[in-house]
Amino acid sequence: MNSYFKKATPICHHCGEYDCTKKHGIGKAGIQRYYCINCRKTFQTTYVYKGKEVNIAAQIERLLEQHHTPEQISFEMQIRLSRVEAYIKQLENA
Ligand SMILES: [Zn+2]
Repeated sequence: MNSYFKKATPICHHCGEYDCTKKHGIGKAGIQRYYCINCRKTFQTTYVYKGKEVNIAAQIERLLEQHHTPEQISFEMQIRLSRVEAYIKQLENA
């Protein structure tokens, strides 16, 4: 668990891979940008809050299947824990 939190980058918002994103400078409005080595796309963490809801739910579902805790998902995707838990509830009710 402790070693997990040493990672500083989120999973890729495009392909959902982890351990393949790295910081890619700061975008407009001072938002941290990331670059995915796997799919060679950049993304910003605020994409999470601007739509692609289905995508987010799918990524949370995938992380759950890989036995991540809601806290880990919250950290990994940089989404508030309450938000993650809301998605998990939706998934459970689906
Ligand atoms: Zn990617």
